[in-house]
Amino acid sequence: MDSVGVETAGPAIEVLRRVFGYDTFRGSQQEIIEHVIGGGDALVLMPTGGGKSLCYQIPALVREGTAVVISPLIALMQDQVDALTALGVRAGFVNSTLDFDSRRAAEAAFVGGELDLLYLAPEALASPQTMRLLERGRIGLFAIDEAHCVSQWGHDFRPDYLNLSMLHERWPDVPRIALTATATAATHKEIATRLGLTEARHFVSSFDRPNIQYRIVPKQEPRRQLLELLRTEHRGDAGIVYCLSRSSVEKTAEFLKDNGVPALPYHAGLDAQVRAHNQARFLREDGLVMVATIAFGMGIDKPDVRFVAHLDLPKSVEGYYQETGRAGRDGLPSNAWLAYGLQDVVQQRKMIDQSEGDAAHRRNLGRHLDAMLALCETVECRRVQLLAYFGQQSGPCGNCDTCLSPPESWDGTVAAQKLLSTVFRLQKERNQKFGAGQCIDILLGKKTDKVVQWHHDELTVFGIGADLREAEWRAVVRQLLAQGLLAVEGDYGTLVLTDGSAEVLGRRRQVMLRREPERPVSAAKVLKQRGAAAAADLPAQAAPMFERLRAWRSATAKEQGVPAYVIFHDATLRQIATQAPTTLAQLSTISGVGENKLAKFGQQVLDALGEP
Ligand code: ADP
Ligand code: ZN
Repeated sequence: MDSVGVETAGPAIEVLRRVFGYDTFRGSQQEIIEHVIGGGDALVLMPTGGGKSLCYQIPALVREGTAVVISPLIALMQDQVDALTALGVRAGFVNSTLDFDSRRAAEAAFVGGELDLLYLAPEALASPQTMRLLERGRIGLFAIDEAHCVSQWGHDFRPDYLNLSMLHERWPDVPRIALTATATAATHKEIATRLGLTEARHFVSSFDRPNIQYRIVPKQEPRRQLLELLRTEHRGDAGIVYCLSRSSVEKTAEFLKDNGVPALPYHAGLDAQVRAHNQARFLREDGLVMVATIAFGMGIDKPDVRFVAHLDLPKSVEGYYQETGRAGRDGLPSNAWLAYGLQDVVQQRKMIDQSEGDAAHRRNLGRHLDAMLALCETVECRRVQLLAYFGQQSGPCGNCDTCLSPPESWDGTVAAQKLLSTVFRLQKERNQKFGAGQCIDILLGKKTDKVVQWHHDELTVFGIGADLREAEWRAVVRQLLAQGLLAVEGDYGTLVLTDGSAEVLGRRRQVMLRREPERPVSAAKVLKQRGAAAAADLPAQAAPMFERLRAWRSATAKEQGVPAYVIFHDATLRQIATQAPTTLAQLSTISGVGENKLAKFGQQVLDALGEP
């Protein structure tokens, strides 16, 4: 393939149109691609769904030799290669999942110069056998995907990535492109240093994902809340639900199934085969909900994930952004929904206290958590806060819960003093420590068994907090914890004072708190917003065509043993349904219909459209 026969108007755009069937580049794709085609190194920071893959796939097609792509998730290489093969691109992979013959075949294809792309896992480079293989072929480019995995202080460190710097030592003339969707300024710097990308041009895109609506709601009955969300906004949609523990993954998946939502579990405790099977079903079938721990999702590039829901607080903003970023890669409206409560803070602090590793490591975990808590408790636009975390300035977005239904902030100094005094009295007068529940009962003046048993009704603070409801007190505790004005310790999550507490008690510090909106963003408001945002809803006459096309796609995908989106993306099917082309020439103008797919599927699509 390579550069033969490519017009001077620009080989990159020619490949974009002919092979991928897209009209124009997005954002800085063109600049990046031309830089890499010209032999330059590049460090690319672009959000999930921004279109990173093309940034190395097109240079792979234009440059002489094979592009070697380093990617951490071997379970997905087959799908990546299938997607390229469907486009007529010559791609292969070598990893431990291949049987002897397939491996031999892939190696021979590489050595024979028959591959445009070869996918490898980072750990493979540690083996001399792989190095010998690479030396026998002709390499045109190294692409290092998920490059943040090289960062030791990031949230996703993989030691094998540290070896990647040697690629440059052995092949100094081969350009390298490193890509990631998650990078704070610190991680960004670390990637450049650790990979030795000293000469690389840095391409930092906006990290905004405007089609994702961010919502963080107070956690009450998380499973019920989730079900309500799915019933009102996501009937028949594919989505991911993240839970912290394996058992809550199991319970949530069961709960959804019992309530008529097709859901599958995924966590590291499941048999590898079951896991692979569930993942394959999620990728291949339409409208499944995957309930998973964060073990699931890296490298999943299913474009039509309509929502990502978190039932537990993520450990870092990076993790949260990466996980939520799996929604809406196709650019259509999608939801990122998180339920968050006091118990999350208590539990996460406890996990940090008990984590292995030294004090510096725990401090690092604590910093990650603090940033996540600040996002949850903000009264400002969530997106502004998220982007600021990645060093990017923006204005209120109009498409997050705080923009759609602004929470008020209130002066919680007196409430904070009441709560902190309770903790202080218990400790000073009784030498006792208790959790949030008992402290709140004392403030509310509740004579529970536990209050009476400990004579806590005799404390001077007993009943001084009757002006707030229990839920409000829980919000006060949560926010003081988030702001570091109170801390939890031990197995039971007992409350203890911090240096900050003393400032509040000593009236040297004002405490502003977020008041939860009486009702979180209503479904009606959301739906209105989405209608305005998206052309997602099809015109009446296109809807039945879209359904026919989906049925055809589903049958074809099954027959070929590939995910449905490898055939055509939803966005492409929608456009076909809307424009109703009657000739191959008309069909070829639709975005996502390239040369190969036109030849392979064009007539079938026209037939499906023409059916009565
Ligand atoms: P990333 O790897 O950055 O998460 P992908 O490379 O998977 O993103 O691209 C996201 C989606 O956008 C894919 O479905 C891809 O086919 C599509 N896409 C990428 N670039 C373009 C483009 N220039 N025009 C149209 N669609 C594009
Ligand atoms: Zn906003």
